[in-house]
Amino acid sequence: MRPPVSAYIALGANLGDARATVAAAIQVLDRLPDTRLLRASSLYRTAPWEATGPDFINAVAEVATGLNAPSLLRALQAQELAAGRERPYRNAPRTLDLDLLLYGDARIDSPELTVPHPRLWERAFVLQPLAEIAPQRVPAERLQAVAGQGIERL
Ligand code: ADP
Ligand code: MG
Repeated sequence: MRPPVSAYIALGANLGDARATVAAAIQVLDRLPDTRLLRASSLYRTAPWEATGPDFINAVAEVATGLNAPSLLRALQAQELAAGRERPYRNAPRTLDLDLLLYGDARIDSPELTVPHPRLWERAFVLQPLAEIAPQRVPAERLQAVAGQGIERL
């Protein structure tokens, strides 16, 4: 068996009880096949970004996983479905969104999976929680670049 890889996952929700959804989803990560939750950030609240609906609750978690990156993505998508996510249109309000930010030091560019996540560096709601649990992965100037985006740590 391959040694586990450290992966970072962004969680977001803005429908229903979004705080409870994100908190529960963090715990579910610990029950994915061959996967352990290592760390989770605080929860953060942000106004919708290129999206509509209520405020988002966001967080980032680190897992150690024996799954390869495509299998991890499929497990995350199954978890989204189980949380009742529908995709009526792009950036629609969602019950739960799980994005794979980083998978070890891997660079992946396939039709269904891009790692590091293509919009990782654009969004305070991803960078700030990531910096909380993995400051070594977020250069200060990257954090500075998104400092104008409103985000509240809960
Ligand atoms: P978004 O997260 O951008 O709001 P979706 O969650 O609907 O939108 O994802 C759209 C597609 O992005 C998925 O079908 C998935 O295959 C693809 N994708 C590419 N790279 C990643 C990644 N690193 N993490 C999650 N999904 C990804
Ligand atoms: Mg997504």
